[in-house]
Amino acid sequence: MPAREPRCAAAAHYWHPVGTCALGSDPAAGVGVDGTGRVHGSDNLWVIDASIMPVIPRATTNLPVVALAEHLVRTLA
Ligand SMILES: Cc1cc2nc3c(=O)[nH]c(=O)nc-3n(C[C@H](O)[C@H](O)[C@H](O)COP(=O)(O)OP(=O)(O)OC[C@H]3O[C@@H](n4cnc5c(N)ncnc54)[C@H](O)[C@@H]3O)c2cc1C
Repeated sequence: MPAREPRCAAAAHYWHPVGTCALGSDPAAGVGVDGTGRVHGSDNLWVIDASIMPVIPRATTNLPVVALAEHLVRTLA
């Protein structure tokens, strides 16, 4: 087996997973929460984190999660 090139040995990935419980209006389309983050089919359960992003942002995800959370939490108050 050939030795790994140094640049490959040093490479690492940073996971920025989003959208596993994506936001959308139609639960039949496979989305998890409505526009407020409320879980479809539930009266009292919200998800507000990177999982509800309907698309992958064109930037790293921490700040978008904070902005999303601050915005949606205000809608709950
Ligand atoms: C190595 C790495 C580097 C990164 N660097 C950057 C960066 O430089 N800039 C940037 O913008 N973004 C960065 N990110 C992405 C950023 O960290 C995430 O997008 C962000 O933290 C997502 O926030 P979240 O609240 O959705 O999830 P998380 O921050 O992952 O929070 C989920 C929380 O839920 C908890 N949890 C999980 N399961 C359960 C359970 N069953 N019961 C109770 N609690 C549970 C976990 O312990 C965790 O505290 C990086 C990510 C990684 C992995």
